[in-house]
Amino acid sequence: MFFRPRATSGNDHHAGFADLQDIGQRSLIRMIFAATGLTLWVFCALQFMAHNYLLASFELLIGVVLLWGAWRIVRVRNVLPWVYLYLLPTFSFLLYIIVVPNASKTAFVWVYSIPVLSYLLLGRKRGSVLALPFVLAACLLYLYTYPIHLDAAGLIDLGNAVFCGVMIIVFVHLYETRRASAHQQLQQMVRTDALTGVASRGSFQQSLDQSVREARRSQEKLVLVILDVDHFKAVNDQYGHDAGDQALRHICNSLSQRLRNTDTLGRLGGEEFGLLLRNTERTAAEPLVEMLREQIASKPLLYGDQQIFLTVTLGLAEWPSDAESAEQLYRCADQRLYRGKEQGRNRLVSSTNHAPPHTES
Ligand code: GH3
Ligand code: MG
Ligand code: MG
Repeated sequence: MFFRPRATSGNDHHAGFADLQDIGQRSLIRMIFAATGLTLWVFCALQFMAHNYLLASFELLIGVVLLWGAWRIVRVRNVLPWVYLYLLPTFSFLLYIIVVPNASKTAFVWVYSIPVLSYLLLGRKRGSVLALPFVLAACLLYLYTYPIHLDAAGLIDLGNAVFCGVMIIVFVHLYETRRASAHQQLQQMVRTDALTGVASRGSFQQSLDQSVREARRSQEKLVLVILDVDHFKAVNDQYGHDAGDQALRHICNSLSQRLRNTDTLGRLGGEEFGLLLRNTERTAAEPLVEMLREQIASKPLLYGDQQIFLTVTLGLAEWPSDAESAEQLYRCADQRLYRGKEQGRNRLVSSTNHAPPHTES
């Protein structure tokens, strides 16, 4: 198995799972900017034909800015200011076209896009905070511009406008609430290994990348340990797959009990795990990891009335003395792990030259 940390670059500020949402969000913003820009160009042509040259030029210019924004948005660090820069003038413009002299009476229908755009681009909380005042203002401006006739026809007009608007707001709110919670659940599932509850491989990889980046900035050392259960196939063969699963959970429990909040334990696959010790030097990590190894070896899994003895082999590498990048650090720890296997298992190998600190008994 080859664990390959993501290549990192200066632009790689949005790596990982949060990022599935981020990528989706950016492409949505891109689509909305582009669609608005192109719509403005259509109106620009219409205004040009109506000899409203000033308005046509304005729409042409804003259309160009929006298409430039659609091209830029995938690369900017923080999309939020861009979203507000788009929404605030757009919504203000939608209010303006209700009251502008000779306005089309149907210009009001654009107000229905306010909650939809707000929720889509800002999520539930920010979206509702922005949409509500604009929708209320739009209603007041509409009532001011087109006073309601309190006859049947007038009330039907009002009912159409109000009920349609309320339904849109309620459905958008419900939809966004459910979408956000489904996304959160999905993210939790992706981040966690289903069998052991420790970090998933992808999540661990992301933590490793990020920790190396942070260590580079702060010049703090960090230690990566890779651990593989010894002769695990034999555990499965002898006691069954369920016992094997329980053994993996048992090992993770033993490891988790001794780790700090800042340490990360992840399942890299099968019976192989990664341990990330931030702000830690090799000399401090070695006794801790030795203790973990001994604890696993000395506390067998109680499976029914049987005791299943388990041992692990570990490879340890320190940043920056052993490697410059996350990928090299992984390779180094992995090579040491396999040296430990060659040397007889149930041991920690933490350097390339020194003798192993433990010999299998
Ligand atoms: P070594 O000491 O060289 O690591 O030997 P090993 O037997 O541990 O290594 P090998 O790669 O031959 O076997 C790994 C076994 O782990 C084979 C596979 O069936 C088992 N395994 C992988 N994932 C799981 C799992 O989720 N549950 C269980 N029960 N077994 C698993
Ligand atoms: Mg193994
Ligand atoms: Mg293995």
